[in-house]
Amino acid sequence: MIRLFLVAAACCLAAVLGLPADAAPGAESPASANSASAAVSRYTVTADILNVRGEPSLTAPVIGKLKQGAVVEKLEESGEWFRVRAGELTGWAHSDYLQPADDGTVTGPDEDGLTDAAPPPSNPKAIGRGIRGTASRKPVETETADNAVRTGHVLGDAVRVRTGPGTDYEIEGHLNRGDRVSVIASEGEWYRIETESGLAGWIAAAYIGFRTDGEPAGDALRGRVIVVDPGHGGNDSGTIGTTYGTYEKTLNLSTALLLKRELELRGAVVVMTRAADEEKPSLQERVEIAARSGGDAFVSIHYNSATTKASGILTFYYSAGKDKPLAAAIEHRLAEGGLGLASNGISFGNFHVIRENSLPAVLLELGFLTNERDEELARTEGYQLAAARAIALGLEEYFASQEERT
Ligand SMILES: [Zn+2]
Repeated sequence: MIRLFLVAAACCLAAVLGLPADAAPGAESPASANSASAAVSRYTVTADILNVRGEPSLTAPVIGKLKQGAVVEKLEESGEWFRVRAGELTGWAHSDYLQPADDGTVTGPDEDGLTDAAPPPSNPKAIGRGIRGTASRKPVETETADNAVRTGHVLGDAVRVRTGPGTDYEIEGHLNRGDRVSVIASEGEWYRIETESGLAGWIAAAYIGFRTDGEPAGDALRGRVIVVDPGHGGNDSGTIGTTYGTYEKTLNLSTALLLKRELELRGAVVVMTRAADEEKPSLQERVEIAARSGGDAFVSIHYNSATTKASGILTFYYSAGKDKPLAAAIEHRLAEGGLGLASNGISFGNFHVIRENSLPAVLLELGFLTNERDEELARTEGYQLAAARAIALGLEEYFASQEERT
């Protein structure tokens, strides 16, 4: 839904006011004990927003919040938690999001309950959130690897980078969906990786995807990295169907997951900006995921609303040079895909996720949930799958035509 973009942007702060990303992906065990030196008493907040709690537990009430870059004084520690003081605020913060501060004065909360960002984190180039520790964050020493160095992409959020190939090893930092890594060795189900910012360590192999440069021509999507963006999410439902009460965010996600499967069947690597109903990355975060991915194209999936009986599909581009050829290729397939809804052609659209995007980017509105027939059709898996296949074919033809030109 177009109009809700403004609402989504205004709500982006709420998205980061929750817990910093600390979710253990899949089979990962709980974080290992913190080993920061007890001699250091001042720490810098590395999370965007860090909760300060009344007790050293994720279930304890939040009594304050600290902004990234805020400097706090450590009073004591308990397991993975530090009891910290920042101005008037004293409470417990998770040590994963605190790194030793070289200098700087302790800053207290201001009127909005958040502390001002004081000195920036000592490693502003670090990618991902919550990367901690500086001692071993250096490029790894030269070593003999069995395979040539491959470039991989991180497939999950808050994926742990450990000091060794196993969950018993300490956490060195975290990487997020779309982050690029060089894979320099493997052992069992683990890859040894390093990033451009110098973070080095081991990641469970299941969280790394590869593009396959140099594959034989003929299937133009093979090895391409496609960023798929299901619009809205979390407490932003997008538009709501007028006949069946369908939430746009739900259709966006289910359609996007079908698109992911279609793209992967054709050999592409897919980076999702969100993969669960409750996730709601801000518009800027979605753009940043695209930028970090080093991907080849960005596709934002939406369903539309109107006060009239408008019906059908809209394909938006922002840049005539960068985006329009991609929009044309996808729209061509949507128009003749036998979807059951008419395509209304391609249009210029001034939307954040395509306007600010570094990749060739399109935003699709795959039907009007304010139109009874559109909504009825859009709710079916058959429609969503047909749309996903049309989009995948359009992407494939776009890349094929790009290859012809070079
Ligand atoms: Zn929308």
